[in-house]
Amino acid sequence: MPLFVPQAAHAQNDIDPAMASQRQSLRVLLGHGDAAAVSADRFTFDGRLYRGTFQRQDDGTILNVVDLEQYLYSVVSAEMPPSWPPAALQVQAICARTYVLQRSDPRRTYDLVPSELDQVYGGVSGETAGAIAGVDATGGAVLSFARGFASIAYSSCCGGHTESSTDAWGNVALPYLGGVPCPWCVDSPNYRWQRSLAFDMLTARLTRALPPAARVQDLRIDARDASGRARAVDVVTDLGDATVAGSLFRRSVGARAVPSLLIGSVARAPDAASALIDGNGLGHGVGLCQWGARGMALAGRAAAEILSFYFPGTDIQHLT
Ligand SMILES: [Zn+2]
Repeated sequence: MPLFVPQAAHAQNDIDPAMASQRQSLRVLLGHGDAAAVSADRFTFDGRLYRGTFQRQDDGTILNVVDLEQYLYSVVSAEMPPSWPPAALQVQAICARTYVLQRSDPRRTYDLVPSELDQVYGGVSGETAGAIAGVDATGGAVLSFARGFASIAYSSCCGGHTESSTDAWGNVALPYLGGVPCPWCVDSPNYRWQRSLAFDMLTARLTRALPPAARVQDLRIDARDASGRARAVDVVTDLGDATVAGSLFRRSVGARAVPSLLIGSVARAPDAASALIDGNGLGHGVGLCQWGARGMALAGRAAAEILSFYFPGTDIQHLT
């Protein structure tokens, strides 16, 4: 199962993509561990092979200094299956490149961490030929909006309508992250799903959102946003109802039990011990729908068309 890392959208920044270079190096903070050079541009860290060079900092942590494009080889490999069509991998590469440059902060001693806090980066061992081809085919291309980098967000499958960043996270509205109908992700195994949520499990996981000692007896969708996602869930308990924000509900109950907030029907099971829910999609749904990018690519759409579909009004710029 590939890793699909939902990324938070960041506020529009003022860095002009025309001032950024695709030949710049990134400083990735790998942490504490054993590092040893293998060649002039390869080293191992805790048994894994990495591109670039390493520096040991005063606090003993290891920094990996690596070319932007070579960093992307690993990141794109972790985020999309290599068997997906080239245009989809190119889209992922442009998104990852834009995201990285937006996150890099020259005021810190490092630019990025290798986990899902930024993007998952595991060095050479996880690299795939498909991802490398996607990065090379789009060398230096980034997504821009109004003289800045576009804010990048993506998730696995939107389930039929992408989500607005404002509804998902309360961010300032960005015109290209308002949400669009998406007919392209129906092949995802998570396009439609059903789950049974035991009331005992819900009682345990939602305990902090409920009156003390309350026991869950039923669920209802309280309100929906423009995309159809649950803005709030009414949790019926033996001590009265509690209204729980959709995002808190999914975070508390877990993404495995509630793949997305695009929940359709909610019904009490015949045993009265659980709720049966069905819904669409996997992830927060903001920005790029990865399965949608795959669907559009299979239909012959180019990377630029896919990006302008999911981020309407943005442009592709090329770094110097
Ligand atoms: Zn979709």
